[in-house]
Amino acid sequence: MAPLKPERVTEPISDSESSDSREEDDEGWDDVEQDEEETQQVISLLDDKVFPDVMSMLEHCKDKHGFDFLAVRQKLQLDFHGCVKLVNYIRSRVHDGQTVSENISTSEIESDQYLKPVLDDDAVIIGLFDLPDIVPESTPAQTQDATAVDDLLKRNTELQEELQRITAQFERYRATVSETLDQRWGDVEAAEAEASAAKAAGKGKEIAPKKPEDASKYYWESYAGNDIHETMLKDTVRTEGYRDFIYNNKHIFAGKTVLDIGCGTGILSMFCAKAGAARVISVDASDIIDKARENVITAGLSSTITLIKGKMEEVTLPVDQVDIIVSEWMGYCLLYEAMLPSVLYARDRYLKPDGLLVPSTCNMWIAPVADGEYVMDNVHFWRDVYGFDMKAMQSGIWDEVRVLHWPKATVCGQPAGFKLLDLYTIKTEDLTFSSHWRSELTQDVDAVDGLLIWFDNFFSPTREDNKSVGLQSVADDWAKENQDRVAFTTGPFNTETHWRQGFLMFKYKEGESSAFKKGDVIEGDVTFAPPEDMPRGLIIKTSWSAAGQDKKHAQSWDMR
Ligand code: SAH
Repeated sequence: MAPLKPERVTEPISDSESSDSREEDDEGWDDVEQDEEETQQVISLLDDKVFPDVMSMLEHCKDKHGFDFLAVRQKLQLDFHGCVKLVNYIRSRVHDGQTVSENISTSEIESDQYLKPVLDDDAVIIGLFDLPDIVPESTPAQTQDATAVDDLLKRNTELQEELQRITAQFERYRATVSETLDQRWGDVEAAEAEASAAKAAGKGKEIAPKKPEDASKYYWESYAGNDIHETMLKDTVRTEGYRDFIYNNKHIFAGKTVLDIGCGTGILSMFCAKAGAARVISVDASDIIDKARENVITAGLSSTITLIKGKMEEVTLPVDQVDIIVSEWMGYCLLYEAMLPSVLYARDRYLKPDGLLVPSTCNMWIAPVADGEYVMDNVHFWRDVYGFDMKAMQSGIWDEVRVLHWPKATVCGQPAGFKLLDLYTIKTEDLTFSSHWRSELTQDVDAVDGLLIWFDNFFSPTREDNKSVGLQSVADDWAKENQDRVAFTTGPFNTETHWRQGFLMFKYKEGESSAFKKGDVIEGDVTFAPPEDMPRGLIIKTSWSAAGQDKKHAQSWDMR
């Protein structure tokens, strides 16, 4: 998954690396059908056909589905807000696979929830302005005996008034939507302040019931924009890894019910649908799911994929059990962001006893690195900045995990697998742990400058096969043994991924030597735990020493 980007610890991928990725992209997207259309299209209310304007879409709904939107509007005497609600009501029913009849009552669509657009920039809502006027019930139709000129003049005045009224309505609609959404999504403070101000002013406005603040609100917001998803989709190691496993194992997906946890743009759901899944249920709590909905419609996959907006732990799925769970939940150093517990929750709640997890195992790696140039650039640099000693700027630089892709030549010791996560059996409490590691130096170094952390991901076609993954299994080697398997690494020896590696920089006392010879061994313990005040963050600690030496080094790094 695209981790929350802690800007301060992340370095941009260089231009040359980016262009490499782009080349790989072009190759990798062959399987995906793209819709290059840029003009605003009107998506049918009742199926996934698109039309150039609202009237032709409504004609289609009337002819093909026997649903006359204008007649319903007339019958219910709906104003602009009412029409918006009717559109969103229809869209949400169709999305949930329910039928829509012309016998809708006003009470069915009165909830404010239907003010929230089901589709972003829904051309139907914008096009409501262009619909012919509703005929007020109490007003008789136009008088027969008025002269043509009088009619035209009258009509002109009416149209101008109508335009003013609609503009005002649209502004009110915007305001209502943003107020409703603010309240629903936890911005209760503003709503409460407004309510108490109104009360103090004697308006007697009711105070909105206090909803618990969502501690992860910032997290959902971080996934709402395009950039983070673009980064993930362009990470070809990641996205092609999932795609290859799904497409190479179509026999596993055919006819199955799949749950995609954290569907983002919907990419993995669409892979599964194209691989023949009978039904894909896609859950995401972030606004990005509105884009996924459009992507799914554009791909013509809306009859297979059901999108549900909400937290995995809170939504109600339309099925009791699923055959396969697909999820891209991995964060920096694997566990940053703490999304895995949501997958484990769904595993225990929905996965059939013989169901499949995609991916199915991860292991975590640690290795010592030596890179004098990096330390010079990022640490010693501050001691002489245009002749000034800026050591104050060094404060904290050893306390944060730095996320960078490291040149493989800087890895100066054997990598050690230190944690195996079998996703079928691991529990949330196992994600706070302490493990031993040991590494033999592969070259002479003036100093070991720190430790690198990365992880490998394993996709097994069966639960039985998954048992073959061990603590020291290397992704590529393991995958080669069986063509149905897929595995990829985020380590320094292979193509860079957007996860890069976590660098834990050592802090030495002045004058302290940390030179090692090839064949020397260093070893220690590494501990992973979330900070108490930030469950999605990570604290990594290690204490280590050179074999045969008493002196222990202990340090802790944060990722918030
Ligand atoms: N599957 C997509 C997106 C992965 S990013 C892809 O592969 O490109 C992870 C997504 O999971 C984010 O969009 C985030 O909003 C969502 N997510 C994380 N935890 C979740 C939870 N508990 N419930 C619902 N969505 C969640």
